[in-house]
Amino acid sequence: MNAILKNFIAGEWVDGSGVTRNINPSNTNDVVGEYAKADKAQTEKAIAAAKAAFPAWSRSTPQERYDALNKISAEILSRKEELGRLLAREEGKTLPEGIGEVARAGQIFAFFAGEALRLTGEKGASVRPGLDVEITREAVGVVGMITPWNFPIAIPAWKIAPALCYGNTVVFKPAELVPGSAHALSEIIARSGIPAGVFNLVVGSGSVVGQTLLEHPDVAAISFTGSVGTGRKIAQACVLSNPMKKFQLEMGGKNPLVVLDDADVKVAVEAAANGAYFSTGQRCTASSRLIVTEGIHDKFVEALTERLKGLVVDDAVKQGTHIGPVVDGNQLEQDQRYLKIGQDEGAKLTWGGELLNRESPGFYMQPALFTEATNSMRIAREEIFGPVACVIRAKNYDEALAISNDTEFGLAAGVCTTSLKYASHFKRNSEAGMVMVNLPTAGVDYHVPFGGRKGSSYGAREQGSYAREFYTTVKTAYTFP
Ligand code: NAP
Repeated sequence: MNAILKNFIAGEWVDGSGVTRNINPSNTNDVVGEYAKADKAQTEKAIAAAKAAFPAWSRSTPQERYDALNKISAEILSRKEELGRLLAREEGKTLPEGIGEVARAGQIFAFFAGEALRLTGEKGASVRPGLDVEITREAVGVVGMITPWNFPIAIPAWKIAPALCYGNTVVFKPAELVPGSAHALSEIIARSGIPAGVFNLVVGSGSVVGQTLLEHPDVAAISFTGSVGTGRKIAQACVLSNPMKKFQLEMGGKNPLVVLDDADVKVAVEAAANGAYFSTGQRCTASSRLIVTEGIHDKFVEALTERLKGLVVDDAVKQGTHIGPVVDGNQLEQDQRYLKIGQDEGAKLTWGGELLNRESPGFYMQPALFTEATNSMRIAREEIFGPVACVIRAKNYDEALAISNDTEFGLAAGVCTTSLKYASHFKRNSEAGMVMVNLPTAGVDYHVPFGGRKGSSYGAREQGSYAREFYTTVKTAYTFP
């Protein structure tokens, strides 16, 4: 076993008050690493360091920020294979998915390097004679970042890059299951030349490190991605804290993919297979509800089942693996529980769901497809977050659209059709924040807004120049010259 990897606080790598380890879900005998676990006092030190670093960093020049972000981007991109392998080993994404995610993180830092040079203010016209009005954006302050395990490098990147770009300082708390990618990213950020305290990594539990960030008066804002249950607690804590914190929440989904009679079956099957099952279905944008109209239903189910039979479920880093393991034993138990719930509710388990044995002990499960599901069943309403999807029949387009919108979530939605009329109507009438035509609901660009509606998201969008809304605050200044 290698040395225990440390937290990064006030520009120093420091020991914690305990140790946490991450286990390879493809091979539970493989301990990926050991990490110092921070306590409340260390989290408070990180917050104090971020607070002390804020005045200078928020006034740093765009060139300084551009240089740091560009350097981070360059190192991430030059090491994408190595970092992608680490990610696949600790989270269970396949190697190509892991490398793709790392590349995306690098591109995000490059995007925000450019954004640092584009932050300009506006000159307003006063309604009163002789007055000048200026509208500028300033950094918010210390931002606490609480991230999930399923995108352990891309999600931190799309929070940290804009935070630094707009002059904020950061205390980053990754999910406990994936400290490895977080640590590797933090080492790269630490080498970028940013001053001590501007960026801090604190590995630890939600109940200690997360809670401290939520309660501390010197944390001005919280950017959270994770489950709806945790998101609600975070919202409550941010509102009750004094002073109130700015917050944004990106949470779960139960994303519909509508397949219409006139769809190209091949395109629809690819969209469903990729959207529902790739990354082991562990994506907030997973296409977990497949809403299929009568005329194409049987053909689609048959073709999708054949496609699933051809998917190789195996060690995430092995060449030829399409679907890696589920992230851990708890998630696997949850997936299995929903298989029973679905069958008890009357849906038909048409394919998959079995636990699989592979060369190494891991959390392997055959992707599962339910048919004859209805939209009122729990498997159609609750986020399972595993390789499980259900097919719901619809009489026609109108009914399919209504079912797709009948959910408490609103992250992503898709439609497969060759009709421009239906595609345009769906784009306008879907209640999701992101809409796809002839594509999986998962799989997004890195430079445009990401986020949902209804119970999936709260607050400003992430990614692209829209991230500015969260990481800056507007100031209006009046001058009587
Ligand atoms: P989670 O259990 O809600 O945890 C997310 C983060 O919150 C973790 O870092 C966790 O720490 C922390 N946390 C837990 N309880 C906390 C508390 N009381 N106070 C402060 N922090 C706390 O979610 P997850 O299982 O990691 O991730 C899966 C969920 O994320 C799914 O619902 C998925 O849909 C959602 N997700 C959404 C998006 C999106 O952009 N919409 C993207 C990816 C994932 P610990 O590690 O210690 O538990």
